[in-house]
Amino acid sequence: MLLGYRMRTRTTNYVARLFAGDLSTFGGPATDEAMAGHIRAEQMSLVLGYSVGIMLGNACNAIVLAIALWQSPDRTLALIWAGTVAAAAIGFGLQSRASRRIIKPQFVSRRTMHRLVRNAFILGVAWGIVPVAFFADASTGGQLVITCLCSGMLAGGALAFATIPIAAIAFTAPIFVGIAICLGRNGDMAFVLIAFLVVVYGSVLLRGVFVNSFAFARRVMRQIEAERTVRLDPLTHLPNRVAFNETLDAALKRQSLSGEEFAVLLLDLDRFKEVNDRLGHPAGDEFLVQVASRLQRCTRAAEHVARIGGDEFALVMANLGRPEDALDIAERFVAAFAEPFPIEGRQIVGATSVGIVLAPRDGNTPLDLMKNADAALYRAKKAGPGTIRFFEEADDKVSRDRKALQADLAGAIARNELFLVFQPFLDLGTNEVTGLEALLRWQHPTRGLVPPSEFIPIAEETGLIHGIGEWVIRRACATLAEWPEEVRVAVNFSAAQFHNAGILQTIVQALADAKVSPSRFEIEITESMLLSKYGSAASILKALLQLGVTVALDDFGTGFSSLTYLRKLPFSRIKIDQSFIRDMLAQPDCAAIVKSVISLARDLRIGVVAEGVETTGQLEYLRQIGCDEVQGYLISRPVAADAVMALLETRKPRATYAA
Ligand code: C2E
Ligand code: MG
Ligand code: MG
Repeated sequence: MLLGYRMRTRTTNYVARLFAGDLSTFGGPATDEAMAGHIRAEQMSLVLGYSVGIMLGNACNAIVLAIALWQSPDRTLALIWAGTVAAAAIGFGLQSRASRRIIKPQFVSRRTMHRLVRNAFILGVAWGIVPVAFFADASTGGQLVITCLCSGMLAGGALAFATIPIAAIAFTAPIFVGIAICLGRNGDMAFVLIAFLVVVYGSVLLRGVFVNSFAFARRVMRQIEAERTVRLDPLTHLPNRVAFNETLDAALKRQSLSGEEFAVLLLDLDRFKEVNDRLGHPAGDEFLVQVASRLQRCTRAAEHVARIGGDEFALVMANLGRPEDALDIAERFVAAFAEPFPIEGRQIVGATSVGIVLAPRDGNTPLDLMKNADAALYRAKKAGPGTIRFFEEADDKVSRDRKALQADLAGAIARNELFLVFQPFLDLGTNEVTGLEALLRWQHPTRGLVPPSEFIPIAEETGLIHGIGEWVIRRACATLAEWPEEVRVAVNFSAAQFHNAGILQTIVQALADAKVSPSRFEIEITESMLLSKYGSAASILKALLQLGVTVALDDFGTGFSSLTYLRKLPFSRIKIDQSFIRDMLAQPDCAAIVKSVISLARDLRIGVVAEGVETTGQLEYLRQIGCDEVQGYLISRPVAADAVMALLETRKPRATYAA
C-alpha cells in the first residue's frame, strides 16, 4: 500500500516537474527549486521576447490559409478557424507584449510554466486540425500551402520553444499527429515519402531542442552562480551591498508603478570595533557571522538582511502595511542582542542601533533614502546602544548642519579661527603647576565657539584631523617655548593621526623649531588608539618615547580593558576619567576604582592625574588617597595662551588648595 502511494506521489511529482519544463525529467542538469525558478524565468523571458513575432506569424499563416482555401468546399469552416486563430494570436501577442514591460521576474513559478505549456498545446492542436480537416478537400495548390504551413509551424515552434523541450513537444506533437492522420488516410507513395521526411525532420528538430535547452540551462546556472557570488557577502553569506542596492532599486520601481510603500532599516553594531580589535579579527568575524544569523532569523521569509559594510546591516521591508511593522522588526533586531554571543569560549555582549526611513515619505531616490536612514541611525547611535529612531525632518537638518560644519572646518585654519586654551595640572605634593593641557577651540564666525566634542569627530571622519593636529602640535610647542623650563605641555591626539607616519617628523620638527626639550612634551592618548587597527601607533609612540617625549593614558577607565593597555607602552601618566571623580564621593564603587587605580599606578611607578576636579571635597579626598596631580575647574578653567604666564606666576593658583 505504502509502496503504491509512494510510487503515485513520485509519478505526480515527475509529471509536475515535466510540465514545468524541468530539464532533469529529460535527463538534463538537476537543479533545486530556486534555481529551477530562475531558469524558468530566463526561459520565459526568451519566449516572451519572441512572442510578438510568433503571434504575428500565426496570424499571417492563418490568413494565408484562409485565402488558399477560398475555393475549397471547407471555406466557411476554414474562415471560422482562421478568424479564431488570428484573433487569439493577436490577443496573446498584445498580452505578452504588455507583460514584457513589467520588470523581468527573478523567479517564475511552476504554475506559470504549466500555463505556457498548455497554451503551446492549444495552439499546436489548432494547427494539428488543419491537415486533418482541410487537406483532403483542398486543391493541389491548397495542399501545397497546407504542407508548407505545417512544416513552417513545426520548425517555428521548435525554434520558439528551443529552450523548453516540453513546450516544444506540446506544440509540435499535435501537428505531427495531424499530419500523420492526414497522410495515413492517403495511400499515395509520395505521401509515404513525405511522412518519412516529417519524421526525420521532427527527430532532428527535437534533438536540436534538447541539446540547445540543456546547454542553455547550464549557461543560466553558471551565470546565476556567478551572479550569486557577486551579490553575496563571503563571510556571513548574506546579500551584500550590490544586492541590497538592487533590492532597493526594485522596491523604488515597484513603488512608482504600484504605490507600494516600503521601509529601509539601517543597522550599525555598537562597539563592534572594540570586539574586533580586542579579540582579533577571527573572533570579530565569528561575531559578525553569529550576528548575521540572528538578524536573519528576525525577518519575514521573503526578506533578507544585507551586510552593506563592516558592521553595517540593512533591510528593505517591502509591502509595508503600517510603519509599526518596521518598528516591530527593528525591535526584534535589538532584542536579538539580548543574549551574549559565545565566541572563543567567552561571552561577548553586543548591541545594535537602528535607523528607519519610510518610502516614499522620506525620499524617493536611493541616495535620499540612504542619506536619511544614515541621519536617523546617527541620532539613534547618539542616544546610546540598542536605540531605534525613525527619520525626522530635524535629522535632515542635523545632517545638513554637519555637512556645513565640515565645509567650514576645512577652511578654519586658513581663516585663523582655531586657537588653543590651556588647563593646568596641579601637583598635590608641591602645590605647583607642573604643566598644562592644550585644548583646541574653534571660534566659528556665525555659530560662536564650537566645542571640540562637536568638531573633532568630524575632523576625524574627514581626515581634516591631520592638518588640524599638525597645527595644534606647532602651536603648542611655540607656546611652550615661552613657559618656564620645568613646565610641560600635554597635547591630545586622535587615533587617526597615528595612521600617518609623518606625525613623528612633525613633532620632531615642531620641537626643534620651538627649541624645546622633548621631555616637556606629553602626548595624551585614549586607549582606543592602541587598538590593532592602528598597528603603526605603537611603533610611532615607541620612537617618540625614545626621543624623551612622555605619554599619558587619557580618560582612563572608560574603555574596554584599560588595564591591558598599561602593559603595552611605558606610560608616564594615567588620567583618571572625570566621570569617576564626579561620582567618587557619592558612590563607594567609584571611590574604590579611583583608589585602586592610584595604588596600581604607584606600584607601576606611573604618575596619576585626576581629571575634572570641581570641589574642594574631591580635592581633599584625592590628596588623602595619594593622587599625584589634579586638573579641573576648581584649580582653573582652561585659559587663553596669554593668561598662562599670569597663572604660573601665582604658582599656587588658589591659596585655598594648600593642605
Ligand atoms: P580631554 O582630553 O579628556 O579633556 C578634558 C575635557 O574636560 C576638556 O573639555 C576640559 O575643558 C574638560 N574639563 C576640564 N576640567 C573640567 C571640570 O572640572 N569639569 C568638567 N565638567 N569638565 C572639565 P574640552 O576642552 O571640551 O575637550 C573635550 C575633548 O576633546 C578632550 O577631552 C579631548 O579628548 C578632545 N580634544 C580637545 N582638544 C583636542 C585636540 O587638540 N586634539 C584632539 N585630537 N582632541 C582634542
Ligand atoms: Mg586630554
Ligand atoms: Mg580626559
